This record gives sequence, structure tokens and C-alpha cells, in this order.
Amino acid sequence: MTQSPQGPDPSERMCPSTPVANATVFLGMITPAGRVAYVTPALPAEVAVDAAAEAGGPVEGRYRLAGPCVTSRCGFWTGEHCGLGERLVSSYAETVGPPEIDLPRCAIRRTCRWYGEQGPAACAACAHVVTDAR
Ligand code: SF4
Repeated sequence: MTQSPQGPDPSERMCPSTPVANATVFLGMITPAGRVAYVTPALPAEVAVDAAAEAGGPVEGRYRLAGPCVTSRCGFWTGEHCGLGERLVSSYAETVGPPEIDLPRCAIRRTCRWYGEQGPAACAACAHVVTDAR
């Protein structure tokens, strides 16, 4: 991965809510309360895939997976940034208010697309996201 003084190359960021077909990292588990319990240090996506296979049902309904951001091959890509991360932060601010300052321990923060573009507000919204596998 290319490094710059500002961190990883923006073209090499990770998508924090990716379907299983693109997943490389097991990011977290969806708790019964609908929040994400982040897994640190990072585990391979296969760990979540195997656990979901035992439990049944789509892996994305129980786990959050991360993988390389595919930019223009994703419907949320605006041409310059991730429109989903932007939308999540904006709707979180409207419905919940200012985000908590405490950042969860997260294995991909250094390369996360949403954090890289939206800052700490992304993490508050991220904790409520269940990936839509469609
Ligand atoms: S938005 Fe924050 S908590 Fe969510 S994956 Fe990115 S760095 Fe981690």
C-alpha cells in the first residue's frame, strides 16, 4: 500500500461496509441492539463467513465486512468520494445530533474510506450500519 505524509493513498482506501464477495476483513458483529461490536485486531473475512454458514442466513445480516474500495465500480461513488459515508454522517447528525467523541477500537481506521473523508463523525454513524447485501 502506498503511503503519503497524510496517510494511505486515497485510491487505496477500505470500504467499511462491503458485501461478502469483495470482503477481506471481518470488521465487526451486529449486536442484538443493532450496534456494531468491532473486532480488533483484524481477522480475515473468512472467519465471519464460516460463522455465518454455521448459523444460516446472509453473512451481511450478522457481520460487518470490509474490503478494498472499488470507487467508480460502486453505485455510491460520486466521482470524487463515497456518497454513502457522506449521507450516513448527515442523517446521523439530523436524527441523533452531534456525534460522540469516543472512537470505537476499529481495525481499519488508518485506511477507512468513510473516516478518511468524513472524520470521526463517520465512526458514530458507522456503528449503526447493517450492510445491504443486495
Ligand atoms: S467509520 Fe470509523 S469505526 Fe467505521 S470502519 Fe471506518 S474507521 Fe472504523
